[in-house]
Amino acid sequence: MDNKVFSVLNRTEDKKRLATEHFDVLVIGGGITGAGIALDAATRGLKVALIEKKDFAWGTSSRSTKLIHGGLRYLKQLEIKLVREVGIERAIVHENARHVVRPERMLLPIVEGGSLGKTLSSIGLWVYDYLAKVQKDERRKMLEKSEVQHLEPLLRADILKAGGLYYEYRTDDARLTIENLKTAVSFGAIALNYTQAEKFTEQGGKVNGVEVKDLLDEQIYTIKADFVINAAGPWVDTLREKDSEGVKKKRLHLTKGVHIVVPFEKLPLQQSVYFDTNDKRMCFAIPRGKITYIGTTDTNYKGDIDQPLAEKGDVEYILAATNAMFPTVGLKIEDVVSTWAGLRPLIHQDGRSPSELSRKDEIFISQSGLISMAGGKLTGYRKMSEKVINLVCKQKQVKTQCTTVELKLSGGGFETEADLDKFINLRATSMRDLQVPPAAVVDLAHKYGANIDLIIEKCYEWKPNYSNWLDLWEAAEIWYAVEYEAVANLCDFVVRRTGRLYFERETIAARSEFWAVEMSKLLSWSLSEKDAALHELKTEYEAVMSWNN
Ligand SMILES: Cc1cc2nc3c(=O)[nH]c(=O)nc-3n(C[C@H](O)[C@H](O)[C@H](O)COP(=O)(O)OP(=O)(O)OC[C@H]3O[C@@H](n4cnc5c(N)ncnc54)[C@H](O)[C@@H]3O)c2cc1C
Repeated sequence: MDNKVFSVLNRTEDKKRLATEHFDVLVIGGGITGAGIALDAATRGLKVALIEKKDFAWGTSSRSTKLIHGGLRYLKQLEIKLVREVGIERAIVHENARHVVRPERMLLPIVEGGSLGKTLSSIGLWVYDYLAKVQKDERRKMLEKSEVQHLEPLLRADILKAGGLYYEYRTDDARLTIENLKTAVSFGAIALNYTQAEKFTEQGGKVNGVEVKDLLDEQIYTIKADFVINAAGPWVDTLREKDSEGVKKKRLHLTKGVHIVVPFEKLPLQQSVYFDTNDKRMCFAIPRGKITYIGTTDTNYKGDIDQPLAEKGDVEYILAATNAMFPTVGLKIEDVVSTWAGLRPLIHQDGRSPSELSRKDEIFISQSGLISMAGGKLTGYRKMSEKVINLVCKQKQVKTQCTTVELKLSGGGFETEADLDKFINLRATSMRDLQVPPAAVVDLAHKYGANIDLIIEKCYEWKPNYSNWLDLWEAAEIWYAVEYEAVANLCDFVVRRTGRLYFERETIAARSEFWAVEMSKLLSWSLSEKDAALHELKTEYEAVMSWNN
């Protein structure tokens, strides 16, 4: 570990190294797949570079259902191997990043005409526990109708037959990606956002690098590497088109998934619910702080890959499904306060509908040696990364072993849930003199884990400069994002480092000017640069509710 810091302030130096040094592995794409690959490679001692054309996690990896789960639904499709693999991965990801991967109790109501009957649900959940090697206290529990109603009185009573209670993990996909990247950088990797792969360079018919464009200053340069890995998610085929082999035989099939966010009081669930829809699909409703989010849809997507949006029809579909299962809440489109839409980079299978397409991951290697990783799930990213770097090491004839199974991610050095709770309680108590509410400490600890100590230290240093705890707290958080999380603009902070656009959209109007001023100080922005950052945020703010525009 060389403890290099992941900061936008190192950009000039990082670029110089990218342009002049030779790398073992160059990863294209800073979503969870690319981040996991960079980490796996860096921890095996390989020299790693990663480039991302927008911000890290800007693609699908900030727009998922944000669950680390074994995919109960895939049992129905008899994808046993997939369920076993991601089921086991679930526990590994939780243990290595407890702060950002939190246990989530999930209720599965069994209803008339639903996907699974009582017996099948019971067997299904048992198999799920078995395949995923679920620990004893988190194993499934089958419930009578009255018990389900007691747990969740909002459920529709006339069709309810029984229920199952089981555990998944809830995460913040973008933060999980960032924690992987921070850890990879601490092992020596260079990861740069706003750097787009333009074309591949070849020697003797073999890919040996990538010509890239810095989207912040338009500079073009070339990064040389022994192996180039295309981890561009929904853009995997766009990049394969640039390779001499093009897209042959196997290709991607993109499907869009939308989530909507409503204030918690509009759908005040007592725990997450995984419920049947009228069209034989299933949706999640997940309470999270002051909001509840619901999703997802699954429809073929042929639009602009750079701009998937929640359309009115998507929102109405989710509202109708929710109102059918929770009839007393009567959600209306006016209740929706935010949305997100993501694209699943699945592998095409003739004749299959979006929901039937396998979520399996696959590696394609072209004649020129370009390695592309497609399909897969957020939950399985670590295993996917292990597979691809095993392959690289084999080709390079380097004998190494993957070590990420037991590698704690940045901020996640807690052995048990009790250790994490103890840490949070101690910090909440020790900060009473700053008047920070305990809930704010818990929230921050679930974002940054043990790294909140750096933010707290900064709060004490800057205490005389700010007149109230919120300004002080957020100024220190922004400082951390710039110094340690490669934040280059306001949207990076608001959307992907903190999820405020989705989970606290109401704070944006009140606080964005303050955030922009703080960021200006740290990044020496001119007034027009600050205004441009605010304008960009306004555009994103409006895009999540685009049907209103
Ligand atoms: C609606 C929805 C819900 C989901 N829910 C879950 C869930 O709850 N749990 C789960 O396990 N999985 C879930 N998934 C699946 C999971 O989110 C994805 O499998 C995963 O995020 C894909 O990550 P990725 O890194 O491959 O792609 P991405 O996150 O899209 O990353 C690819 C990156 O490549 C970059 N890029 C593209 N072209 C270039 C270029 N030329 N140069 C440089 N960079 C480039 C992009 O900007 C992008 O950031 C869900 C998916 C969707 C769509």
